[in-house]
Amino acid sequence: MIHTKAYAAPGADQPLGPFELDRREPGPRDILIEIAYCGVCHSDIHQVKDEWGGSLFPMVPGHEIVGRVARVGAEVKGFKPGDLAGVGCMVDSCRVCPSCARNLEQFCQKGAAFTYNGTEMDRVTRTYGGYSARVVVDEAFALHISPRLDLAGAAPLLCAGITTYSPLRHWNTRPGDKVGVVGLGGLGHMAVKLAAAMGAEVTMLSTSPAKEADARRLGAAGFGLTSDEATFKRLAGRFDLIIDTISAAHDYNKYLGMVRLEGAMVLLGVPPAPIPVAAGSLIFGRKTLSGSLIGGIKETQEMLDFCAEHNVVSDIELIPFADINKAYERMLRGDVRYRFVLDTATL
Ligand code: NAP
Ligand code: ZN
Ligand code: ZN
Repeated sequence: MIHTKAYAAPGADQPLGPFELDRREPGPRDILIEIAYCGVCHSDIHQVKDEWGGSLFPMVPGHEIVGRVARVGAEVKGFKPGDLAGVGCMVDSCRVCPSCARNLEQFCQKGAAFTYNGTEMDRVTRTYGGYSARVVVDEAFALHISPRLDLAGAAPLLCAGITTYSPLRHWNTRPGDKVGVVGLGGLGHMAVKLAAAMGAEVTMLSTSPAKEADARRLGAAGFGLTSDEATFKRLAGRFDLIIDTISAAHDYNKYLGMVRLEGAMVLLGVPPAPIPVAAGSLIFGRKTLSGSLIGGIKETQEMLDFCAEHNVVSDIELIPFADINKAYERMLRGDVRYRFVLDTATL
């Protein structure tokens, strides 16, 4: 067993504190990663608070993991000790169902093995995430990180990066497309950077007037304050695509009004309670309301390579583990610029 320091939530909505756990000895196709950094995703908060139901405790959150390979199993081909490696939201899937065959492991029909708050594919062995010093993972679910990228800034690419890259690609974002990004947090700031890198004309739609200058620095050409009703009138029918990253309740219908004829809005944020959608919001303008879940492993590697080519990383605030509960509180207030990243050296 590989003994590992970690941080865990002992129960629903309880503060996180020091914890220890054992990882499996690396099998023939496994790699052991010494974690350097782990990003803090709002999904960590939803799950620690058990807002989606069925949370497993104690919970070691964290699915934006980067570090260095310390050891590899005898059959590992893609990694060697010393390589940089990343782990995102999944550590395994069935690998044979139609979704897995399409490289869409996130939609595995058996249910993917999520990095934490879940089980391995045996459906017994609990998974524990990246708020820890080491992780053991099958190389098929590990990603290569370019040494050209700032390593701490690259950590959030493993969730916030792929979650925003995937719908931009799926909806075929092209130079000149008008993309609206709703909510300037971890996902939102990656959506702005990636859409801008794809050549889109990005408008940031935010509740925070103080974030306008940052939005423009990140690559947004326009800014709309969503606490001002005039914004929804001014931007009515404007966007080819709206990427909605808000983590809390809000009115989808108002945002759909800013989608152009036959345009689309993609939900990424997961507010805890259902939100009503009026048929008319979609019928008038033949609009599409869609959702998107992270991205498959192949696409995650493609995104990391795209980021290396375009020099895209996350804007981060590096924090010690002792500050994790404070960081959660700040994220709940929208006070994050724009991703907290845990420094494993402080564990
Ligand atoms: P985050 O960093 O906390 O950012 C969320 C942003 O939403 C805030 O910064 C704020 O931006 C805005 N916001 C928050 N509360 C709001 C409210 N009541 N009304 C209006 N705007 C509000 O969160 P994140 O890590 O980016 O995650 C965002 C959501 O995506 C979470 O629900 C998370 O679980 C989900 N998620 C989904 C996937 C997926 O695969 N679909 C993957 C990862 C995360 P402004 O200040 O600009 O308004
Ligand atoms: Zn996440
Ligand atoms: Zn599958």
